[in-house]
Amino acid sequence: MKKSRWIWAAIAAFLILFCIFVMIVERKNADAMQTASAGGVSGHPTILIDAGHGGVDGGTVAKDGTVEKGINLEIALKLEAVFRMMGFDTVMTRREDISIHDESAKTIRAQKISDLHNRLKLINETPDCLFISIHQNSYPYPNNTGTQVFYSPNNPESEALAASIQQSVIHLIQPKNIRKIKKSGTEIYLLYQAKTPAVMVECGFMSNTQETEKLRNEAYQSELALSIFYGVLNYLNGNDASASVPVTQ
Ligand SMILES: [Zn+2]
Repeated sequence: MKKSRWIWAAIAAFLILFCIFVMIVERKNADAMQTASAGGVSGHPTILIDAGHGGVDGGTVAKDGTVEKGINLEIALKLEAVFRMMGFDTVMTRREDISIHDESAKTIRAQKISDLHNRLKLINETPDCLFISIHQNSYPYPNNTGTQVFYSPNNPESEALAASIQQSVIHLIQPKNIRKIKKSGTEIYLLYQAKTPAVMVECGFMSNTQETEKLRNEAYQSELALSIFYGVLNYLNGNDASASVPVTQ
């Protein structure tokens, strides 16, 4: 009898300690959220979200006919919703299936160039912003999978922002992803030209059938959006993404 009382006392003590631990973790997360929220409303970085391609420019196309521009927009809109919910100011390059070219651009080539120029104009005209471009990858070797973040070579903050997003995505939803962040060259026009902290998130490979299926899934799109959000949050708070984001698995 005595022995079992001791066991129950030990279990009760453990439960109390566990509850205190959970309360501390919850409190820490709430503080981090508050900091981010306060940052948004007090004029700290505006989040400029770019849904890659659109309109005449579909981007890459998967074997099953899924077009990149649609997936980009769905993830970008979910990302916008999270940032707005947390009190951030956001700007979108597009909110529907359009190319944002000037009316004077007549050929498809001219429209693509004008569209990119207008996206860059938006970056330059949005003061104190973080630029996050959403795209999907494609590669001739169909086994490639996983998110990879590219960063602008101009603003030194871009690399830290990219690293935080990459780490957050890996930690939260892609534990087997070993991809590293990569500096953009001239091939990614907007990153190459942007002066503000700027990254491009290649969320997954549409050349891989299983990953395309996941990318089409609303729940997975939300997971991607949340992981990117946490990466930005940790970058803004100067935290190590793998140490401070809640663990989901
Ligand atoms: Zn793309």
